[in-house]
Amino acid sequence: MKIIRAEHLGMCFGVKDAIALALETARREPLTILGDLVHNETVLAELRAEGIRIGQKPAEIGTQTVMITAHGASERRMGETRKLGLNVLEATCPLVHVAHRSLARLVQEGFHPVIIGKRDHVEVRGLTEDLDEFDVGRGEVDVANLRERSRFGVVSQTTQAVDKVRRLVQLIRGRFPKSEVRFVDTICQPTKQRQNAAVELAQKCDAVVVIGGAHSNNTHELVKTCSRICRRVHHVQTAADLRAEWFCAKDNVGITAGTSTPDSVIAAVEETIRGLAVKSGEFSKAIYS
Ligand code: SF4
Repeated sequence: MKIIRAEHLGMCFGVKDAIALALETARREPLTILGDLVHNETVLAELRAEGIRIGQKPAEIGTQTVMITAHGASERRMGETRKLGLNVLEATCPLVHVAHRSLARLVQEGFHPVIIGKRDHVEVRGLTEDLDEFDVGRGEVDVANLRERSRFGVVSQTTQAVDKVRRLVQLIRGRFPKSEVRFVDTICQPTKQRQNAAVELAQKCDAVVVIGGAHSNNTHELVKTCSRICRRVHHVQTAADLRAEWFCAKDNVGITAGTSTPDSVIAAVEETIRGLAVKSGEFSKAIYS
């Protein structure tokens, strides 16, 4: 069995910086993070082990200092938190700020805002909570439900798949030929690199293992991207989820990981697959012959 890592995989700079800021702050003073800093249980458990609290709503903040996650937040939400007399520390990724600024500019210029993304995702909530009127969606049915406007301003959640976003923008243009549709590409570079590398990986592998949290949007996008090319794609959160019967003795097995997956988890998955390779010959005939 050959194990191949994607050229780009795992934790992005935005997540690494947010974790570093949380740990550095927690060494000086008690800290609560508002929401999941990243959608990865391993990372969250490590933060809790350092004494950092994680609250899902303002009522659960038990410290004077509260951190906004890398996914960002609306001005309204940050204002409400400051009104409680708390120190607000922002770990918002600079590339999420780019999406906020792009959207604000489109609205200022009179475009009706459309956000391609997951409606209830924390990043999308941060993008939309300051707006009076907007549309959010990530599928053809959402485009079909749009009402005609003279000008549409479209941005994307930073972790959406490039192909899908471009296809939806084309659909909007096709559905409203008389409207001006301005698209600002706000998908972040680390997401694009991981998606492109995942395509290359899936093309040369018999099986692909995608490592990432159950609620990580970019991990789910990597699973979908690989599944379009490779028949055997498995999503795991940690090495404990791996199953010997997924692999054959002579497989090329690809490994990729979402932007919130720590290096230690990727290394553990790779090592476990190496261990399973010994057993895999027994299972391969039954499953894949
Ligand atoms: S996935 Fe992209 S936008 Fe999100 S934290 Fe990482 S670099 Fe920033």
